[in-house]
Amino acid sequence: MRVDANAFGRNARKALLDKTLQEALGRTTGRFQAHRDAAVAAFPEFEATRERASRIKRDVLDHLDTYLARFIEEAEKRGAIVHVARDAAQAREIAARIARDEGITLAVKSKSMASEEISLNEALQEAGVTVVESDLGEYIIQLAGETPSHIIAPAVHKSRDDVSRLFERHLGEPRTDSIPELVGMARRHLRAKFLSAGMGISGGNFLVADTGSVALVTNEGNGRMGTILPRVHLAVVGIEKVIPRMADLPTFLRLLARSATGQTISSYVSIVTGTRRAGDPEGPERTHILLLDCGRSAILEGKYREVLKCIRCAACLNTCPVYQSVGGHAYGWVYSGPIGAVLTPLLVGLPEAIALPDASTLCGACADVCPVKIPLPDFLLELRSDAREQGLKTPGEIAAMKGYAGVMRRAGLLEAIERIAGVLGQFFTKGKGIAGLPYPFSGWTERRDFPAPAALPFRKRWKTRRGVTR
Ligand code: SF4
Repeated sequence: MRVDANAFGRNARKALLDKTLQEALGRTTGRFQAHRDAAVAAFPEFEATRERASRIKRDVLDHLDTYLARFIEEAEKRGAIVHVARDAAQAREIAARIARDEGITLAVKSKSMASEEISLNEALQEAGVTVVESDLGEYIIQLAGETPSHIIAPAVHKSRDDVSRLFERHLGEPRTDSIPELVGMARRHLRAKFLSAGMGISGGNFLVADTGSVALVTNEGNGRMGTILPRVHLAVVGIEKVIPRMADLPTFLRLLARSATGQTISSYVSIVTGTRRAGDPEGPERTHILLLDCGRSAILEGKYREVLKCIRCAACLNTCPVYQSVGGHAYGWVYSGPIGAVLTPLLVGLPEAIALPDASTLCGACADVCPVKIPLPDFLLELRSDAREQGLKTPGEIAAMKGYAGVMRRAGLLEAIERIAGVLGQFFTKGKGIAGLPYPFSGWTERRDFPAPAALPFRKRWKTRRGVTR
């Protein structure tokens, strides 16, 4: 997938003017957030579970080599073939080779952000394989020729009318605004693909080291069908997804479902271990597991290693005021929201995504909801500092920040500036707000409400309350 992260400003402006997107974002992120909050409130052990999950993930990061070796050994013992890709190019090459060697011409794929990272579909298509997305949201955006805009709800930006128009154009279905009818249409078309595909492709939410299993969490059942009906199963998973024991899995399942959708447990939890055994009624004849490094080892070595604890629940997206306003496409690559603003620069290189660490208000809401306690706001600040050290900030930005720091260190100067701003602000005050500020302050008034200054400035009010007179 092409990296377009440095176009964040342009993409965000476009997103803010898109009425359909704004309605969809308001509806869905709000709903996800409300469900998550209710589920957490109804689960008194949430904090303790979160603490335990964070501890387990830290242990994994400290001993990733050991746990990965154990996972590979156990998976191979049960008949799986494990491949490790150093980078995206190698991963694409391995996947294409598997498809060619297995004689695959049609593959059904369930949702996998890791496969988006390596542009797996394109690689397989070049190798002569037709890849059909089987997650409903992914299927919709595949028909639209777009990329996911949310980790767990990839078509969150599409209205039911958009979907109906797509189904009419690509599937020849009649127009409808009934969601059950639209789901039925997708089901009919996809079922035929499941039954004729030679390969099922999945991601993996967790790799269980002590059993060599790939755990898949879905709400549509497509992951389960894709891993048992086709002759070959290919799982594409990042190396950081390993957990030590099967006994650790419930800790993560409890957190993932609640943080993602507010469910107590997801509709389908599939544990895929090895290949079909004698007497098994179903299952793949061959299972390939493609483990992706793709920059993760380098992250592990550095100060941002805790970002590898992420379980891709998307709670940080739903709570982020920036994501809520601009949606996922503005971030210009696979991952969006606060996790995208941290992970993308680390995976594709800071110069390629220098705009993203600035795409945050640093309100801290993401860290509050993260089920594995990743300090996202600290990482965003650290990345801004790295950008400065690597000479990636413009002289204008550096001068502005130095000026800001100089003012904030001098209370008297700050007060004087506030007084001047208060007087000047009156010239731009219209009704209850300030409008039409000149550049470079125009960004604050063009598309946002900027309240007029209070009749009594804060400092005066503070002094009056404390009985100080001057
Ligand atoms: S950073 Fe935390 S909240 Fe965001 S997707 Fe990852 S686990 Fe979820």
